[in-house]
Amino acid sequence: MCAVCTVCTTAAPPSGATPPAGATTAAQRFAAGTWLDLTHSFDATTIYWPTEKGFLFEAGKNGPTPQGYYYAANRFATAEHGGTHLDAPRHFAEGRRTADQIEPWRLVGEAAVIDVAQKCAANEVYEVTADDLVAWERKHGRQLVDVIVLLRTGWSSRWEDRTSYLGTDARGPEAVPLLRFPGLAADAAKWLVEHRRVHAVGIDTASIDHGPSSLFGAHVALCSGDVPIFENLDGLQRLPEEGAFVAALPMKIAGGSGGPLRVLARLPGDK
Ligand SMILES: [Zn+2]
Repeated sequence: MCAVCTVCTTAAPPSGATPPAGATTAAQRFAAGTWLDLTHSFDATTIYWPTEKGFLFEAGKNGPTPQGYYYAANRFATAEHGGTHLDAPRHFAEGRRTADQIEPWRLVGEAAVIDVAQKCAANEVYEVTADDLVAWERKHGRQLVDVIVLLRTGWSSRWEDRTSYLGTDARGPEAVPLLRFPGLAADAAKWLVEHRRVHAVGIDTASIDHGPSSLFGAHVALCSGDVPIFENLDGLQRLPEEGAFVAALPMKIAGGSGGPLRVLARLPGDK
């Protein structure tokens, strides 16, 4: 029984405990399922767009206090767009929703994973087509409706090697034309907005438009349709093509065009 409450009659597990394997209640079963973290950590090595500084971390006090308790508190500064992050619709569409205005339902839902890893291995600037999206629909016998579309290019396996991931290790505006990685074709993004209803679209590369893009047509199409974008996702190879539950929760920056994002997925079929 907890010490501060008079209504409990059975002992509750401590809040720091891991959910038990033989969970019985619905809440326990949900928490005990297989959860995947689709987020890259933020530190000095985190990949940002070549024109950004990266993740700035300033260590503060970390240690015992004169009063006897331990205390840790640090500071950080970051561009909105770097590491695993959100592009709010406002990023490429004037007047569209900012990070704090995105409807919560868009940030959670079932993942529809479009596996284009083989095509991207053969062509490092591959653009995912509407045909690739329709191929998923044919295979699974359903439309891309009320799902979070996740594009699995396989690029997250290159994350530790900035040159391999971005196509260049150069910094500054002169590095931007050197970027090489896959993305979503502008007309495929437009097709998703006009003919399907998706909560959001994510990718395991640095940008939803492929590296050589200069017009950012996929960004413009999705943002103009109020569809949020998740970039630099990790671990998509561990997700099934359908059935996983995803929650992608960004920092709620008032007026923000995006922001750091924590993305978790729960695998289907857990008891
Ligand atoms: Zn972005």
